[in-house]
Amino acid sequence: MEKVRLGRTELQVTRIGFGGIPIQRVGDDDAMRIIRRVFDLGVNFFDTANGYGTSEERIGRALQDERNSVILATKTPARDRDGALKHLELSLKRLRTDTIDLWQFHNVSNEPSYAEVTGPRGALEAAREALAGGVVKHIGLTSHSMDIALKATASDLFETIQFPFNYVTREAEDALIPLANKHDVGFIGMKPFAGGLLSDARLSIKYVLQWDTVVPDPGIETIADIEGIVDIVNGDRQLTNDERNEIERIRNEVGHRFCRRCGYCLPCPAQIPIPVALNIVSFIRRFPTDHVLSDGFSSVATRAAACLKCGACEARCPYGLPIREMLAENVQAYKDLTA
Ligand code: SF4
Ligand code: SF4
Repeated sequence: MEKVRLGRTELQVTRIGFGGIPIQRVGDDDAMRIIRRVFDLGVNFFDTANGYGTSEERIGRALQDERNSVILATKTPARDRDGALKHLELSLKRLRTDTIDLWQFHNVSNEPSYAEVTGPRGALEAAREALAGGVVKHIGLTSHSMDIALKATASDLFETIQFPFNYVTREAEDALIPLANKHDVGFIGMKPFAGGLLSDARLSIKYVLQWDTVVPDPGIETIADIEGIVDIVNGDRQLTNDERNEIERIRNEVGHRFCRRCGYCLPCPAQIPIPVALNIVSFIRRFPTDHVLSDGFSSVATRAAACLKCGACEARCPYGLPIREMLAENVQAYKDLTA
């Protein structure tokens, strides 16, 4: 597979990476098979996180004999030096390696977090020590906040930035990708399928690959997923006129005010699965009615109707969504469907 330079890290990563979130959802044997298949198909860039359950351990186990052929990226949610160093130790152990190629500060999406990471005794100090000791080769940051992503990119403290990028979450096109190019910061495009909102892999992958310096890292859950994606990457990536029209049609259908299903709004004191509840309308649009009327779905709608309107979720949503209002709309749509 074609490789691309990941900014000033000088790492030569494959045109797409492997996003390590969904691999925690499958059984152990399947996980091994999937990761091996990803590797055999030529993908060399594996991105996981300390917080992704079994993901690091599975990637480490599946790729332990391929260490010199793969680029391993992981993340720490710690903001302080000591916490970050503990996470690093755990990541090294789980990934069965003595070096992390790219160590990222995970979801730094507000000013206090950024200040803590970059301040005295912050996580960046841990990274500098690890760099000096050769335990970490490169440092990056991931964020859902455009302001923080811009600040981090312009700071020259980080060699990569990871930010959501897909054809409905396009904010990075305007300033962030150009800024990353200017500062020679590698851009990793998270959520090329908008967290599962976009179902046509061809449109999603071809769209993000229009940017030469963007490396998407789609979450992979099945062998069929990766085989389909690799075919797209290795094929003609030029979007046809029909595909461009289809993208435009889907953009109009989805609109701007939508939940990216990142889950940062959780937990909810009323136990509402907010990322699912906010997508009831989208499910109604895209899935057979039988599925939407199933017990599982109906209980989501019932719980969403019991929102306490405390607003705690809205304070945590990096997209500033009016969650209470949107929940009410989704509950109403469900009621209309069942009326
Ligand atoms: S406003 Fe509703 S959905 Fe949000 S945290 Fe409170 S109870 Fe949960
Ligand atoms: S409401 Fe906001 S924080 Fe919660 S899942 Fe959706 S986009 Fe993420």
